[in-house]
Amino acid sequence: MSITNNINTLIKSLPKNVKLVAVSKTKPVSDILEAYNAGQRAFGENKIQEMVQKFEVLPKDIEWHMIGHLQSNKVKYIASFVHLIHGVDSLKTLKEINKQALKNNRIINCLLQVKIAKEDTKFGFSFDTIENLLSSEEFKYLSNIKIKGLMGMASFVDNETIIREEFKTLKNYFNILKKHDSANFNPTIISMGMSGDYKIAIEEGSTMVRVGSAIFGTRNYN
Ligand SMILES: *Cc1c(COP(=O)(O)O)cnc(C)c1O
Repeated sequence: MSITNNINTLIKSLPKNVKLVAVSKTKPVSDILEAYNAGQRAFGENKIQEMVQKFEVLPKDIEWHMIGHLQSNKVKYIASFVHLIHGVDSLKTLKEINKQALKNNRIINCLLQVKIAKEDTKFGFSFDTIENLLSSEEFKYLSNIKIKGLMGMASFVDNETIIREEFKTLKNYFNILKKHDSANFNPTIISMGMSGDYKIAIEEGSTMVRVGSAIFGTRNYN
């Protein structure tokens, strides 16, 4: 199957309310262009430097999604163009995004990453920490960020029951947290689901899937 075929098949299979982010990390610009020519506009990268290099040479109507763990000292390199930052998992990073957004005269859209997997290798906030963050005075003053929802990654296991439970947990957190009222908090997005588990994620309420290898083939590294 070609990238074009994969994109077309995937798009047809997704419900209307689910957005596809094509995860192009480690893949060459030519692969992204093929997906772009098939109509895909949202692409996900997990390394700042790689995203900047691709941004510079690719069409300017591409939406760039930062899906990886973000080091706050590198936010400045993507602040002028990034469309959505999925992996925010500390107040420190949020403050730095706010600062760089202000410098660029923008509001940067973010998702809070929640730790839903039992494995301890995954980054992310606990539910309680997010509740405290959203209720804090400090959060209300971050007027150059907008929290658009939550992001989560399920455990890398074959057990569908475990994956489904983790996605259910994220959806449940979303429903509770959306009652918070703050100008910079407008949750509409639940980013969950990758090549191996996006179908389960959609059944459990995902509104945004991040799919890489099912579109571009397996990666050689990373
Ligand atoms: C790599 C990656 C994906 C895509 O993974 P695939 O299994 O190739 O679809 C999705 N989300 C995040 C955060 C990733 O790092």
